[in-house]
Amino acid sequence: MEVRVAGDARIDVLKNNDGYSRAVAAVAIGEGEVLAPFGARETLATPNYLTVQTGPETHILLSPEHLQYINHSCDPNVFFDTTRMEIVALRDIPAGEEVRFFYPSTEWTMDRAFDCLCGSSACIGRIAGADQLDADALQRNAFNQHILDRLAERLAVLAD
Ligand SMILES: [Zn+2]
Repeated sequence: MEVRVAGDARIDVLKNNDGYSRAVAAVAIGEGEVLAPFGARETLATPNYLTVQTGPETHILLSPEHLQYINHSCDPNVFFDTTRMEIVALRDIPAGEEVRFFYPSTEWTMDRAFDCLCGSSACIGRIAGADQLDADALQRNAFNQHILDRLAERLAVLAD
């Protein structure tokens, strides 16, 4: 069973008996709507398992803190827009649905790579950051500007 341990008017963070936490929509959110604005509790120069990358060398600890329980999916329903500093719904999200984002949309190289078990038909398996994605995964997903810049740099080097 799950217990609500944190959240706000639009997000519930639920924790189960195994200590696993996840964020679900507390109310229905329409496609394109902002689920939550976010900021930095702290900015670090290197990533850790809790940080979100917002620039080439900036990794933030999220504020409000409960946003750190938004887990990864290869078929995400929200996008962390690190330019606008807002979490935006990629599609209609009914109340009670888990909200998840595609970690490589913000992370170039992750501190802790892991094998994804999201179960989506689009699942890419090993999640290690945008640096490790194949052309198919790059085409299917949305990315932040600092990731697009790195991808463009890589193409420029290849073209040399
Ligand atoms: Zn997956």
